[in-house]
Amino acid sequence: MSAPIKIQYLKGIGPAKAKLFERLEVQTVQDLLHYYPRTYQDRRLNTPPNEYNSDALTVFKGRVLSTQQIPAKSVLIFKAVLEDEKGAHIECTWFKRRMYRAFRFDPFGQLKKDFHIGTEVWVIGRKNDRSAMFGTQITVEEYYVAADVMTQWHAGRLTPIYALTEGLTNKQFRQFMVEALQSASLTDTPEILPPALLQKRKLLSAPQALKAIHFPNSMAELDVARTRLAYEEFLLLATAWGIKRTQTKILAKDYSYEVKKTLLTPFKNQLGFEFTNSQKKVINEIFADLLSPRPMNRLLQGDVGSGKTVVALCAMLLAVENGYQAALMAPTEILAEQHYLTFKRILKDIPVNVAILTSSTKTAQKKKILAGLADGTIQILVGTHAVIQDSVQFHNLRLAVIDEQHRFGVKQRSKLKEKTAKLDLLTMTATPIPRTLALAFYGDLAVSTISELPPGRQPIITESATSKLAYDRVRTEVEKGRQAYIVFPIIEESEKISAKAVTEEFEKLKKIFPQFKLAVLHGQMTQAEKESVMADFAAHKTDILVATPVIEVGIDVKNATVMVIENAERFGLASLHQLRGRVGRGEHASYCILVPQHAGSVAKERVDIICSTRDGFKIGERDMQLRGPGEILGTRQSGELEFKAGDIFKDRDILYWAIEDRDELLSADPGLIKPEHSLFRLKLQELYQQNWHLIDLS
Ligand code: ADP
Ligand code: MG
Repeated sequence: MSAPIKIQYLKGIGPAKAKLFERLEVQTVQDLLHYYPRTYQDRRLNTPPNEYNSDALTVFKGRVLSTQQIPAKSVLIFKAVLEDEKGAHIECTWFKRRMYRAFRFDPFGQLKKDFHIGTEVWVIGRKNDRSAMFGTQITVEEYYVAADVMTQWHAGRLTPIYALTEGLTNKQFRQFMVEALQSASLTDTPEILPPALLQKRKLLSAPQALKAIHFPNSMAELDVARTRLAYEEFLLLATAWGIKRTQTKILAKDYSYEVKKTLLTPFKNQLGFEFTNSQKKVINEIFADLLSPRPMNRLLQGDVGSGKTVVALCAMLLAVENGYQAALMAPTEILAEQHYLTFKRILKDIPVNVAILTSSTKTAQKKKILAGLADGTIQILVGTHAVIQDSVQFHNLRLAVIDEQHRFGVKQRSKLKEKTAKLDLLTMTATPIPRTLALAFYGDLAVSTISELPPGRQPIITESATSKLAYDRVRTEVEKGRQAYIVFPIIEESEKISAKAVTEEFEKLKKIFPQFKLAVLHGQMTQAEKESVMADFAAHKTDILVATPVIEVGIDVKNATVMVIENAERFGLASLHQLRGRVGRGEHASYCILVPQHAGSVAKERVDIICSTRDGFKIGERDMQLRGPGEILGTRQSGELEFKAGDIFKDRDILYWAIEDRDELLSADPGLIKPEHSLFRLKLQELYQQNWHLIDLS
């Protein structure tokens, strides 16, 4: 493929503009061509006057009837009255501050040049509340003289609207896009799709599709353009995964398991509860994987509280029975700590050596643990991503379990992937990815689902309410002997500021609940502090835990029955669901109270969804729809799963085409070495070099 053409090559883009484009991750002309519109505005016909309002842009094409400049004290005003073909009128007004220093500069110079009586112009703007002598008053956002050659790209058509960055306007954006489309670079756009597939699916060629996605002549044309581009994205990713799948299939384990039950039976006998049928089913599935000669790559999904941990522990005990080591990795220290304590507790008299390793493990202790891992005396290691540091060497690690895998970053996951290449891998999540996506892309990733909660779970009443009502509920419950959480959001991604904010709220809350014992928990505390706060809360030495979302996953205190979520609109769906999962764990009915501050519509939608369902699978799917898959899977930064044209929900059919065609393509030409596939292969390699080496099959 020819060398990429820097965006500065386009007329009007100097170093300063190029910097702005860089913020949008647009560096080359090709990048720009693939920066698709956020939406389109229909500027083909005038907006009917009765639809004018201050929220939506209006479109008006008409002739200039009159213009007028009004000198006022501090501002200069320019007015123009326009009339369209049907005789409707609008009045446009521009205001400019009087600039004494630049008295010779006429701020309306350009307007006066463009707005001659009788000139035909397009005006895009919004209705405002000022009274008009003629027709409706419009605040003008863009205008175009109809006779100008460039006007055809901005008005009188379906007009692209781009996601901008400060310093760029849509008008400029469209101009550059026209330049890019007309310049040589478009003819340089190679057709990477194999001709046979283009024909089979009746797709537009790449240049046609690019032209039409930016400047469609009709909605139908836009649709076929989007289809082509979405198909290309899906086919590339599906093929990448397909290739990876064939590569990993070749590996066979050089170790094997045998179900000895020397640990499993005593474990089951002293557990104190029966596994649910769902748990039994998934344990069988996992054991079958472990016993097979291929390394396991299984996702265990089950709603919050469905009992994934004991299932994982069974698998780990099977490893230990066979003389192997097993590790469990959790996304936060608190959760790792909790798993560690749980394991210690439920393994009671079972002779298994469990250790915990996090980034705050003291040096001396760490040394001992590292030695124990190296010589095999530590059989189960629980930890955070500290577990995958290079200094950690295992004697014979065979099974790795990752809890709440979606909360690990891409870097951590790919590092883990390296470490676990020939291991049995079990990942667990309560925020499942939709089946289509999982199957389509992961392909060989087996999925086990726990579809029921353990018996005796109490309902959780979820509602949206004011702080006052929420605190009343806290009071009644604590008076009954129960405990409560009050959670505040992370502020602007900064743990430090959030810690300060939550500490301030904590001081206020102490005054609101003088009769109760309160404690605060946030990410800036030392591990020892966090541990003692959690231990006190678990032992009911405190009544109310005021916290940041550090408690989001895993925390398991059965006596806690109220979860108050402040500024609920700041939380994503998955977080809300996880937080709610902290209550309703014991024998008491529980409450989750969302306290929104000022809810926008998406926020309100999230709150409504949470209040209306407890089904984590539904919530996961809605979350993905609201936020996009990249963000959920933690891959947004790397751009792996960021489909620009495609949408895995709306474009399901195209997705299935891509998967079907991928399978055909790879079975006919597994190495993509035929000449008609060479450009497609090159594109795949290019993507791998950029960031797809991070493609995560776990
Ligand atoms: P999650 O799936 O959210 O990770 P956990 O593994 O933390 O759920 O389990 C939640 C709680 O349910 C724990 O206290 C666990 O001991 C308990 N539990 C798990 N399985 C059962 C069961 N079959 N019967 C009763 N309680 C169970
Ligand atoms: Mg869990």
